[in-house]
Amino acid sequence: MGVAARGEHCARAGDEFLAEVAARNPHEPEFVQAVSELVDCVMPRVLDEPAYREARLLERMVEPDRMITFRVCWEGDDGSVRVNRAWRVQFNRSLGPYKGGLRFTATVTPGVLKFLGFEQTFKNALTGLPMGGGKGGADLDPRRCSAAEVRRFCQALMGELHRHIGPHVDVPAGDIGVGRREIGYLFGEYVRLTNRFDGSVLTGKGLTFGGSQVRDEATGYGVVCLLLHALHHHGRELAGQRVAISGAGNVALHAAEKAAAEGARVITLSDSDGTAYAADGFDPEQLAAIKTLKRERGGRLAEAADEARGIRYLARRQPWHLPCDIALPCAVENEIDAEAARRLLDHGVAAVVEGANMPVTADAGRRLRHAGVLFLPAKAANAGGVAVSGLEQTQNAIRTRWDHDEVERRLHDIMRDIHAECVAHGGGGTQVDYFRGANIAAFERVARAMLAYGPG
Ligand code: NDP
Repeated sequence: MGVAARGEHCARAGDEFLAEVAARNPHEPEFVQAVSELVDCVMPRVLDEPAYREARLLERMVEPDRMITFRVCWEGDDGSVRVNRAWRVQFNRSLGPYKGGLRFTATVTPGVLKFLGFEQTFKNALTGLPMGGGKGGADLDPRRCSAAEVRRFCQALMGELHRHIGPHVDVPAGDIGVGRREIGYLFGEYVRLTNRFDGSVLTGKGLTFGGSQVRDEATGYGVVCLLLHALHHHGRELAGQRVAISGAGNVALHAAEKAAAEGARVITLSDSDGTAYAADGFDPEQLAAIKTLKRERGGRLAEAADEARGIRYLARRQPWHLPCDIALPCAVENEIDAEAARRLLDHGVAAVVEGANMPVTADAGRRLRHAGVLFLPAKAANAGGVAVSGLEQTQNAIRTRWDHDEVERRLHDIMRDIHAECVAHGGGGTQVDYFRGANIAAFERVARAMLAYGPG
């Protein structure tokens, strides 16, 4: 078969498969989008490999092992009874116990959690650590809750969740709306309910009860670490580049800290209300003040505006209309659409790195990649967080604690290896397709394990 005919054959097979996935998962556009990103890259491998087709690997990979839905009933500060819905999606355990965060937002849905669990399966595979994929969450808006309400909610949620998790079964962690405070409440309740101190049942714990050094920073640091590898591979530098970052949460703030430490000019951070813009780049003092504002005082980014010191606040604006060399979307899914991509391209953006999970729409991603932008997909770019969660589990299992430098060194090694995998599967040479490379490398790891186990 000629190259063109083969391309058409792959595209047709991919379209047929995706039509089936869309029909079987109605009203779950994020999930179908995540599947389509993988399928676009791996369909040629599946068509070339009779064993993959006979084992129906793709069909099996897009069905979660199980989804657990449960009610969370708790008490508000005013004594009223509150009812929320929570889920745990245990997606794929071919490479290890299910592993993935818990998300608390008012808008979370089973479809979003399925997309995140699917994505997590392949991200975890890229780390090379023994972790399967899962995700969970609840339709709670913690910003509308007092600290005591968050605590009671976490305890009520664990009242059910503890039946479904365990160091060898499923190991949750944080995600949007779930940070160290919530993990503390969840872990405390797990210990009370089970009478077992199984440190490695949850990751992202406090340092005094089994948490790992560098876990807080790991995702954002890892994002910049992979970016540095990719830039160096292509003979470019980060120092002096204008970096636009969205979000002002865990991933965004640590990516900003690391990028600035590497000499980049971090020109934006944002939250759901607007963007803080420093045309000359935030200085370390300003970044530290924003971190305190967002993480310790629960403030809004608007409060960081300081025209005299070069910080403007742009209400209801995203960072993507501002000129930048590198874009790091680190807030939510689908925040860069085709229009935002067009603006970034107009300004000559050279690299886009997905710090958040699937922050770039399929259409926008295609435009950016076809325009020759260095595009680092979330699976690879934000894998540093779960990698250090994996290292936290290891430390818990062997009952030890590694110091900051040791964990950071291991994180760097993992990100270096992920880069090498992307290069090896993404065409090699000086024009690496990181999107294809990450998807194929991750797929092959999961596929080989599933094949070895036989159907099931
Ligand atoms: P956080 O809850 O710490 O921060 C999320 C940030 O995004 C907040 O600043 C929030 O603003 C902002 N935000 C939320 N909605 C919007 C919106 N519609 N437009 C603009 N900004 C918005 O979450 P994380 O930093 O932990 O996670 C961010 C992303 O990274 C998610 O996609 C997550 O799945 C992914 N991720 C996180 C990992 C981790 O280790 N934490 C690991 C791998 C991936 P506001 O303050 O207004 O709510």
